[in-house]
Amino acid sequence: MRLAHLSPLKVAEYLKTNDTILFAIGSVENHGKHMPLGTDYLIPDEILRRLEERIDPSEILIAPTLPYGSTDYFEGFAGTVSLGTELLVKLLERITNSYYEDGFRKFIILNGHGGNTAAIDRVSLGLHKKGARCLCLNWWKMAGELNPAWAGGHGGAEETAGILAVDPSLVDAEHLHDGQELHGDYGEEFSVPGFHALRFRGATLQAARPVDRYSANGWVGPDAPPEATKEWGEAMLDAMADYLAELIPAVKRL
Ligand SMILES: [Zn+2]
Repeated sequence: MRLAHLSPLKVAEYLKTNDTILFAIGSVENHGKHMPLGTDYLIPDEILRRLEERIDPSEILIAPTLPYGSTDYFEGFAGTVSLGTELLVKLLERITNSYYEDGFRKFIILNGHGGNTAAIDRVSLGLHKKGARCLCLNWWKMAGELNPAWAGGHGGAEETAGILAVDPSLVDAEHLHDGQELHGDYGEEFSVPGFHALRFRGATLQAARPVDRYSANGWVGPDAPPEATKEWGEAMLDAMADYLAELIPAVKRL
């Protein structure tokens, strides 16, 4: 059931037998020239849509998706919007506190963006201290655990496959083969192997910095986008929906 479609009376009715609430959070950010800015909430939304095909609607209350997230390092690309971690913590605290005061005690957050996890962790800690429970489902990491062949990086084949399952017309085939367009921004002694990373004399250093300083494209990962297929995306998002359909009753039993 979608909370946005219910009256307060119906929510109160649901709370008599179930105190679990589920919502997705994403990000509006660059995912490479071939991908839409909404990738990180479009995919979780599609997982929720597939979940609703698998369960009785009364089994879970789904609150509205938060499209924006914390993504300061992609702000150099047109269209990217970042709430930053501090504001996202405040926003999630206000939202989850409202549901907590209604009587919800179990929170399932379907997350589409790695930059949100620091904020979600802070909010989760606070909820647990108040006697509630909070699970964060980082779908792209979980998909790689469910099937190692699906694991990928930012805007690579994994997420491209996910968007092909949402709507193939959202992938711009003209830029599918563009490559990561990585370039060194720390001089000749340091190479750029990937996201927030630098290599120096056989070891990797972490250096969080604006992605447009070292990538002209903005997809960063080992998994090349042209490898993605719609079939992969369908199987992956179905697997996540199946997983959620099993997780929700287990959380209810807690
Ligand atoms: Zn993403």
